[in-house]
Amino acid sequence: MSGESVFPALEPLLEQVSKPIQYVGGELNSTVKPWDVGGDATVRWALMYPDAYEVGVPNQGVMILYEVLNERPDALAERTYAVWPDLEALMREHGVPQFTVDAHRAVGDFDLLGMSFSTELGYTNMLTALDLAGIPLHAADRDESHPLVVAGGHAAFNPETIADFVDCAVVGDGEEAVLAITDLVGAWKREGRPGGRHELLLRLARTGGVYVPAFFDVTYLPDGRIQRVAPNAPGVPWRVSKHTVMDLDAWPYPKQPLVPLAESVHERMSVEIFRGCTRGCRFCQAGMITRPVRERSITGIGEMVERGLAATGFEEVGLLSLSSADHSEIAEVTKGLADRYEGTNTGLSLPSTRVDAFNIDLANELTRNGRRSGLTFAPEGGSERIRKVINKMVSEEDLIRTVAAAYGAGWRQVKLYFMCGLPTETDEDVLQIADLAKRVIETGREVSGRRDIRCTVSIGGFVPKPHTPFQWAAQLGAEETDARLAKLREAIRADRRYASAIGFRYHDGKPGIVEGLLSRGDRRVGRVIEAVWRDGGRFDGWSEHFSYERWMAAAEHELTPQGVDVAWYTTREREEAEVLPWDHIDSGLDKEWLWQDWLDALDETEVDDCRWTPCFDCGVCPQMGTEIEIGPTGKTLLPLTVLGAGRAQMVEAAAGHTH
Ligand code: SF4
Repeated sequence: MSGESVFPALEPLLEQVSKPIQYVGGELNSTVKPWDVGGDATVRWALMYPDAYEVGVPNQGVMILYEVLNERPDALAERTYAVWPDLEALMREHGVPQFTVDAHRAVGDFDLLGMSFSTELGYTNMLTALDLAGIPLHAADRDESHPLVVAGGHAAFNPETIADFVDCAVVGDGEEAVLAITDLVGAWKREGRPGGRHELLLRLARTGGVYVPAFFDVTYLPDGRIQRVAPNAPGVPWRVSKHTVMDLDAWPYPKQPLVPLAESVHERMSVEIFRGCTRGCRFCQAGMITRPVRERSITGIGEMVERGLAATGFEEVGLLSLSSADHSEIAEVTKGLADRYEGTNTGLSLPSTRVDAFNIDLANELTRNGRRSGLTFAPEGGSERIRKVINKMVSEEDLIRTVAAAYGAGWRQVKLYFMCGLPTETDEDVLQIADLAKRVIETGREVSGRRDIRCTVSIGGFVPKPHTPFQWAAQLGAEETDARLAKLREAIRADRRYASAIGFRYHDGKPGIVEGLLSRGDRRVGRVIEAVWRDGGRFDGWSEHFSYERWMAAAEHELTPQGVDVAWYTTREREEAEVLPWDHIDSGLDKEWLWQDWLDALDETEVDDCRWTPCFDCGVCPQMGTEIEIGPTGKTLLPLTVLGAGRAQMVEAAAGHTH
């Protein structure tokens, strides 16, 4: 019978694999619902984060969808993750299909398989899962008995490279979108599945909010560029729009965060304090595609922290967002939470890489009694000139002043993030990082009076992304990236007075080229993904599994007959008139505005954050019928309403520190 557990067949295999606990489920706050919970028309989702359990389980997106779907009486959702090659081999040998970790049901039994892609390097893992699930790799080969494969997440903003493998893609915020899809699938099931899979996909496509690649034809020019992408089915709109949840307070998820049994990358719970970012860093896809800014209120944040801690027993809370220090009431939020949880074991963290003194004040507030180990700042570009190009408005003086404040406040270690290969960059821009790092150490030694302070320079290759002003830019080749990084390393090591105080971490340029191929590729790149997977490609986001040679060999073999190559997709600059593979996916950003911003970048002209300055017409707000949603609300976090264990202690602590 459908929906049966495959655990009896799986269990004997688990003792033969590494970390078997990652496959057993049963996490605190996980949910198992009866297969027919909503009757015949129950809509069943398998949600996949296509990476290892330890990376996937803390993923907020999946956690949120899992919870909103399971709250519905007529739906159920279970989770599935990429299995490691050791288990994959055994599953193939013993005929065990891809399974969910919740009830160990076969993924092939579900109505929908939702895949959340944070990075393009998860594509080969998707193919493993499809294959293990018994789902044909190509959407065109699937029938009524197979789940609909739905792609989401940031990488879905260019779904073209995986167009052959997914039935549809959804861009933007998922919570309202999955509910709308669930409604539509449920109605279609109740009606007796009229028109089969085709009709269902057509209904989804006609909403304008679900992209079904099969309903779009792509034609090419003789030189390899795209000529046109056009719908081929009646009633399917030319462009697919992104989903935007406007009122975050109405979506306080996850309410019951999952607590993994096995080790995961984050041993803490996270509360998303806002979505979107308007700083306009030109390299940043996340910032561009999640506009506009929508803040959770201070009271909403307080309730989520309180409820989440009670539901999980975690002792650390991360206040998440793209740039957490930018919340309009962040000072009140951090102070309020620090007051409330002072004297308890609850630690608070605020991932923010903003280069300014205010950010340090916040970090100081959150570590009132704790150890001040490391702070991270992201100037991103090595020289002031390149920071103008990328619109990261940080001067060298800002940076030095900021690190001086950090070392002065007792922080011992400062990490600085940079990128290599930014548009118009030369060796000189990157070599300035060495001088900057030396000044940082010098300043740190001066203000702290200590010799044991450290600074780590972390640098990776820049990958131009769709829906950003750099979508037209040439990516720097892997060899050039590596050569530039080698020069930087030399420059850092050259000066013995500082060399031991400066750590240097870098990623070589090769994975970035593959990421570049996948992120700005079109449908022709799908064959490369499949060839890599057939050749054994798995877990490409893990350096020990990633093989550049395998990708290049597959690309050579699959792209050459199509008249294109890796360089064409990566290191080639595009013209304004070129049809980009993702032009029919509407992120809300006006293409003309993006082009102007690209020209501004080349001119080293900065634009301000539209959160605080007049709108610069990027297109998002009018087009999406939305607007920026920020405070201040004027509310405060207290009084405390913590319920359950530890309440008295927390009340006492909070009361004692409310100024
Ligand atoms: S501050 Fe810049 S890099 Fe950070 S999320 Fe916003 S746009 Fe992106």
